[in-house]
Order: sequence, then C-alpha cells, then structure tokens
Amino acid sequence: MQVIFVGGASGVGASCLAIQLADQWIVVDAGVRLDHKNDPLPDLALLEYKDVRAIFVTHAHADHIGALPLLHQAFPTVPIFASRGTALLMEVMLADALKVMTKRAVEEMELPLYPEALVTGMLAQVRPLPIGEPFTLPVLPGIMIHASRAGHIAGAVSLGFVAPDGSLVVSGDISITPQRTVLGAVPPPVDRCDLLVLESTYGARLHPNRQGEEQRLAQAVADGIAKGGHVLVPAFGLGRGQELLLVLQAAQEKGQIPDFPLYVDGLVRRVCDTYLLLPEALSPRLQRQIRKGYLPFSGPNVTFVRDERDRERILAGPPACIVSSSGMLTGGPSAWYAARLVSQDNASILITGYQDEESPGRRLLDVAEQKRDTLEIGGQQLQVHCNVAKYSLSAHADGAELAGYAAALHPRRVALVHGDDEARAGLRTLLTEVDVLLPRDGMTLEKEEKRARRSARATSAPSAQVLDSLPTGIGGGVPFDYQHVEQLWRAVRQVPTLRIVTARELALVWYGRVTEETTRIILDTFAQDYEQRYFIQQHALEEAYRVRGQYEETPGDFLSDLVGSVLLLLISPESTKPVLCRAIEPGASVRVQLPRGISQERTRFPFFAIFEILGPAPQDVQHSYQKAPAYLSDLVKTARRIRRTLSAHSLAQECQEDAMYTLSDLCAFAGISPYSLEERLALAKLVHQHPRLFTQQRSIFDGEGLALYSLSPDWREALEEPEEQERPDQNWILSVIEQYLGTPSDLYRRSIDPDTGDVTLAFHFPEVAHVRYTEAIAAAAEETGVSITLAPYVHQGALAEAARRALPQGLTALGSPSIHHDQSLIQFTCAGEASDEEVAEAQSQFNAATGWQLQIARKKSPGSPPEPHQPRATPKAGRVSQHEAMHCAQRLLSPLPGYVKVSMDVMNATLLPRFHFPEVARTRYEELFTQLEEQTGWSVRLQPTVHHQALIEMAYRLLPEGLSCIDTPSLYQDEQRVHVSCSGKADAEAVQEASRRFLEETGWYLDLVV
Ligand SMILES: [Zn+2]
Ligand SMILES: [Zn+2]
Repeated sequence: MQVIFVGGASGVGASCLAIQLADQWIVVDAGVRLDHKNDPLPDLALLEYKDVRAIFVTHAHADHIGALPLLHQAFPTVPIFASRGTALLMEVMLADALKVMTKRAVEEMELPLYPEALVTGMLAQVRPLPIGEPFTLPVLPGIMIHASRAGHIAGAVSLGFVAPDGSLVVSGDISITPQRTVLGAVPPPVDRCDLLVLESTYGARLHPNRQGEEQRLAQAVADGIAKGGHVLVPAFGLGRGQELLLVLQAAQEKGQIPDFPLYVDGLVRRVCDTYLLLPEALSPRLQRQIRKGYLPFSGPNVTFVRDERDRERILAGPPACIVSSSGMLTGGPSAWYAARLVSQDNASILITGYQDEESPGRRLLDVAEQKRDTLEIGGQQLQVHCNVAKYSLSAHADGAELAGYAAALHPRRVALVHGDDEARAGLRTLLTEVDVLLPRDGMTLEKEEKRARRSARATSAPSAQVLDSLPTGIGGGVPFDYQHVEQLWRAVRQVPTLRIVTARELALVWYGRVTEETTRIILDTFAQDYEQRYFIQQHALEEAYRVRGQYEETPGDFLSDLVGSVLLLLISPESTKPVLCRAIEPGASVRVQLPRGISQERTRFPFFAIFEILGPAPQDVQHSYQKAPAYLSDLVKTARRIRRTLSAHSLAQECQEDAMYTLSDLCAFAGISPYSLEERLALAKLVHQHPRLFTQQRSIFDGEGLALYSLSPDWREALEEPEEQERPDQNWILSVIEQYLGTPSDLYRRSIDPDTGDVTLAFHFPEVAHVRYTEAIAAAAEETGVSITLAPYVHQGALAEAARRALPQGLTALGSPSIHHDQSLIQFTCAGEASDEEVAEAQSQFNAATGWQLQIARKKSPGSPPEPHQPRATPKAGRVSQHEAMHCAQRLLSPLPGYVKVSMDVMNATLLPRFHFPEVARTRYEELFTQLEEQTGWSVRLQPTVHHQALIEMAYRLLPEGLSCIDTPSLYQDEQRVHVSCSGKADAEAVQEASRRFLEETGWYLDLVV
C-alpha cells in the first residue's frame, strides 16, 4: 500500500489523495484552492504514469471537486464514483464554477482552468456509489470498498478501502453533531485500519453549543432588522446556506424572532432546488417533509432572488435579511450586497463560516476587531460603518469530535490533512495512543508489507457485491429516436441504484460517446416526451432525468412540477373540474384556482383529489391570477364540445384487456391530440364518467405523475347497454345561473333537465322577468352551454296577491279574481269607492309590475266562482306510462300546501289530484297542472270535493280574537258556505277580514254568527 498526498495536506483547498492498493491506483477527490495567492490546483503531475483505475469523490465542495475535470482530462476513461447526492450537486457546483471563471476571464484576464466541454465529459464518467453496503468493483479487483455517511453536507461520504496489502479510511470532511440538513458522520466499518486520513479543519477548536449559537445568530438578524437596516449573511452556497435558511425560518415559526422577509440569492438558491431532489441524503425530518411535497427551504417569508433588478429593489425596500453566496465575500451576490451595505450605519453583516486569510470576509472581521477601518471589495476601498459579527455554525467536527471519530476506528496511524498548522498541531495533542503524521503536499507514505495477510480476510466478506456500471453504446450506431426511449430505460434500469441520469449519461449509454451533438439529440428527443413515461425531467436540474420504476420512488419528486399545471380535480365524488395548480401546501394538499362560475370558497384540496394532470397552462395564464378562471371556463366549454364527438364505447373497443394505457394513448385511440389541453380534458372526463368501462389502475401518485388506465372488469357487460349521454353537472349549472341572476324573490322555481342540462326558470311574472333578465340569462347560457328558458305562465297566487295589493284604498276585493290567460287579464269584483284616477293609477302600476291588465268590476255581490281548470295544452303524442305519470304528478304536486293525494282514471288517461280546497288549488296551481299535462301527456282533472275537516280547521284558525266557537260548524255544500256560532266580542272589521281570508284560502264563504 502506498499513499501520495497530492494536495490539500496542510491546508483547506485542493484536496487530492492517491492510493495504491492491490497494485492499482485510486484517486480520492481533486479540488481547487479558492484563495488567490497560491496555485489553485493540486500537483496532478505526481500521478503521471500511474495506472489509475478509479476516482472517488467524497463530496461536492469546490476544494474537493474543482480540479476533477483536469484529472478526467489526464485519465479520460476512468470511472468516477460519487454518491447520488454528490453527483447531482457536482453538476450545480461545476456549472457555477464555469460561470465564475468566464466572468473572471472577461474582467480580470484570468485564464479559466478548463472549458465547459471538459466538465461535460467528466460528468459523463460519474457512476453511482452505494452508501452503507460494502461492495467491490470490476475495475478494482481485490479491493473491498465501504462508503458511509460523513455528515458535513448532503451526499458527503467517508471511504474505506480494504485490500490484501493494506486498509485505510479517508474521512473526507466530516461533522459529528447533527445539523438541520444532515445527520452526523458514521465511520466506515474498517476496524484497525492501517491508516486513517483525517480532516482537521477545526482540530484546535471546540465548537460552542450549536443550539445556542443558532439562537444567537437568529437574534442578531432580528436585532439588525429592528435597527431598520438590511442584514447580510454571506454563506457558502452548498451546505451553510441551507442550514441558515432552516435556522432562521424555524426561529420565526417558533416566534423567537419576528417575521421579516428572507431573500436567498446566488448559488444558495440553486443548491436549495437540488437538495429537494435528494431527500435520501438529508435528515429524516427533511426527508419526510420533502416526500410529502412540502418545500422546506421556501417557507412563507422566503423569496428567491433572480437578478440584479431584484437586488436593487431589495436594498431600496424595507429591512430584510439576505442569505447569499459567496461565504467569504470573494464574489457572487454577497460581495455585491456587502459593497453597498458596509458603509451604512444601520446595516449588519454576519459572518458564519470559515474565512481564508486574505478573503474580504476575514478582513471585515479584522475591522470588527478594530484592526482596520476600511475594506476592499471588488477593487473599491470602502469605509466600514455597518455592524459586523461572527457566529460559529460549522459543518466540520471540532477537535474533540475528530479525536472521538479516530478513536472509534482504532487505526494504526493517522495522517492529519485539510487543516492549517495550528489546527493540525492542536488535534495531534488530542490523539495520544496512535502514531500521528502531519504530511506535506507531495509526500508519499508507504506501508511495510508484513500486515498484508491480516487484511486479506476482509476482501472475502460474504456481503460483497459487484456494482454494475452503465452499459455503453447500446444503440449500435442507430441514431436515437423517440421509439428507443423504452430500450434506453431498460438499459439504465440495470443499475438499480441509479435514480437520476443526465442527458450526458444517456448519450453515453446509447452512442457510446458523449459529444455536444449526441447530448443534444437526447435532450431534443426527451423534450417531445410529453408524458415522461420512462424518464422524468427534473424540475430543479437542467439536463437531468429521473428513472421511473427504480427503487425508492417517492411521490414528492414530481410535486413541484404540478405548480402551473392544469389538473383534473375531483371537487366532489361525482364532479371533476379542470383547475390551475398554484401551490403545493403542507398537509399533502394543493392550492388551486377554479373555473369561473364555480364557488371559489374552497381552493385547497388534498392530493388524492387529483384525478389527472392535463399539462402546463399557457405562460400568461400561469402568471396572472385574474386570467385563470376565465381561461379554465373556456377550457370547460371547448372540452364539452369535443366530448360530444367522443364515444366511450368506441374507445373501449379500441383497448385491449389487461393492457394499461396513459391518457395520451387513449387520446390517440380516440383520434384526438394528446398535446392539447382541451382534448386531454375531454378524454379524461369521458374516462372518469364511465367507471364501468374504464378504471384508473394507477393514480398519478402511485405513478409519480403518470396515471394509467385499463378496461374495467365488467366492461363487456357495460358495452351491451346503450351508451349514455354525458350527464350535465346540475349543481354547477345552477350556480352559474345564480352568479348572473342572483336570487330574485320573484324566481320561484328552477327546473333542470337531468339529461340535457337545459334549464327552465319560473318567475312570478314571466313577461316582466323576460325584459329584466334577458342579458343575464344570455350570459349564463353562454357560460354553461345549456339552453335557459322562462316558463311562460304567470304565478296565479302571486298575480292575485299583486292585484289585491294594487287595489285603490277604498276598494275591497270580493271573492277570488278571475284570470284570463289569453288576454293576460285579471279581474276583481270589488266593494267600496274609488275615483277613476285612482283606479287608472292602480292599473298602470299593476301592469308595470306584472305585465298583466287589471280589471275592476264594482258589484255588491260576491264574484262568480272561477272557471274550472281546462287543459290548455294538447297532450303530447307520446304519453308516458301510468307509473311515470303518477311519479311525475307526485313530484310536482306533493310540495304544494293543501295537497292530499293523486289518483288516476287510467281508461281516460287522466290524473285526479285531490286538494283540501279544490277551488283555490285550481286557480293557484293552474300553471303546474298544465306543466304536468305537458310532461306526462295525461289530462289533469281536480277532484271537486272539498276536504271538510280542513275547512273546519281553517274556520277555527281564522276566528278573530275575542270570539270562541260554541258549536260544531255547519257546512252548506250548495252555497259553499260554513256557518259558525260564536260567543264573545269582536269588531265588525275583524269579522269581515276573517271572512275575506277564509274565502281566499278555501274558496268558501264563512258566516260568523255571534
Ligand atoms: Zn467540504
Ligand atoms: Zn473540504
């Protein structure tokens, strides 16, 4: 065994370690130095002529990966092993590094370390590294590899290598105390290793209590805001930034500090997005939150900053906290903010992490310690007036923790790296029972051979497994095409630990080589893959796809894509509506906007209410809260039109039993476009409305955004039955009508045809209503797509009542009015006196209110009884069955006051309703009887007998106060008169009023004899 400390031995930066085991070379990490005074690179020349078989990466910080593209250039075919989290984060970090280098090349004439193509090529060589299980690799025969969690940041690992000629552990950067984003480190299980290469960043320090430090920081931010200034917290983009966001949000949630805006800028923001893709690398609490669809980094007070315009707005706005990279103010938005804030008295800059000797961050701390009073940022000398303080929220273990980590492994020797002289010397004093080395860069360490035999046993451990690598060049030279997606997916699935693949990896699998062109073909083909049945485009990461069907599928992964999409939502068990998803909310729910015309009271629905994802809404709709409801209701209308052209039966006949289809497959069967929202909506509703034909086998949650349908078990029987027409949504139609018309008191009935959805509105006075509501009704009809008509008949009770109220003061109506429909005329016989002007005025008012004419006959005798009801409409040729006629009659008549029952004269096809007071019912409900005749084709004839008991009860009820009945009332059938003998006293007016009301309610006369 041989170890070369290629870089990063005596300081933080450019970490790189080369290991020879079992006659093969392995390289662990290849980072850069970020301070500008030294050579930024490890001395890769030390690796020249070495047979490097594999490269391992501990984590994605720049001091461990920044030189990887150059290492890859030297060893272009060598695979690079990294945990999934590290692999994803590397893409983000290197893309950022490229951006920074390009900027420096322009501004400072500094040559970039490497071109973009080299990064692309390097990333294509990245292979997954399993954590927790020991494994072997075909490229490294004879070596057992252990990767275990290192804490520090997401995806970070420590590595153990065991071979016949020696064993060693590389700690990488580690933290022991659990952080908010990650748990603490677990050493790889390689007991009594020959060598432990241990980081020592804070080897000479003891960290203060973390919780206390978090509280102190949160309080300092709150104090800075209270002073009326902005608070800048520069943070490393990867790790610290996420921790700070969680610390500050938690303090706000607990009420320890007040609510204030938190802005997140620079690399911090992009890394937050990436963290959401790798829940398995995070603390259990975050894992749970992300898998439930909650976005822990973007709570209610958090805003992600996009560009410099945003930045200027923030500084011009009210006090706020800004968490931004870079952490040492060497560049990035934090330097931009700092340059503007340092000279402000009420601003604060709070430093939270490691600062290089020459970094602006360190110099700012010197100012705070009154070692100086000006600061240079971006070439400007600035007077420092703002508040500066330092807080220790380290992602590195302190001296005691590092010593404990070492003790747990019982190594023969420990080499301390990744720390300055002071740190390494401090840690050395804590490691008492072991041989401690303080290597310099470029130093080689060789182990004597005598221990080889002991280590040999370890490699044959039974739990060893071979890690597959991705196949390459499976396309055999055929250009990649949409039809090959499934084949590609099958190849990728051979590596079960691979959940995320990049376009570059896929290009390698298909073409066997990665070029800009092959990658572009993969990207273009996948861009057309609307349903993403095999690979799911990653929301937060460009050019990356998640592999469907791999282990550990979690519903959380596709949730962020729902925002801005049109969903088909079950707003009740029967009713589905297209909605626009606005947000994912805690408690596994979505916040949505509904189509116009649907009650907007409820806008939050549980995930399981989502029936299908239709697709992304147009950009302008996504960006406008106002446009969405109208857009959705237009969508409903268009989809309804399309749906009328579709047949569920024909669609079912296109499907095969036991096959599963996506919505797009079904669209294609039905001959409509799978890419049009309207057509997808039409088809999804058709499927939902025919549960006996189609079943949703896999919901969008089981399928991570992809629902699958199949034929229902009894689809054959369902096909035997005639195809049902689409059932209109009655509640929705009525709610749209209410939205346009309100609830006018003269609208007494809304009838809706359950088959067509057509609506008939019955107003007391249709002529008047017609004028008043024409526009509103037209609008409601337009929106619902059904016909809305007015029942043509006046409400006789309301008409008589209105006429009575219109009568001039001096006149009293005698008996019931006669109503002449053909002339729209109501006639009252009245007693009393009124001038012709009064009568004319009453008539004109009545006409305006009802559209009818009022005629007043002045007589002393009671009016003649109204004409018996005559069927006006010719019964329809199609007469309904006896049963149906009866049912219809009961439905229409039973709610009416005074209704007793209905019998029938089947021979004459006549319905015989019975009422307490047939005289009155005949007049009052005439319109309903006509309607009943029209609907059934049966004649309606009222049974003429009055209900005696009801008559007597009415007489009792109307007895004026002061009178009591002394005998059973007598009925005189011929005269339609009830005679009641009373005792007591009542004035004449009350007696007259009682008679009038009795006549009105029963059609009979009442004699009260005192
Ligand atoms: Zn690190
Ligand atoms: Zn490091």
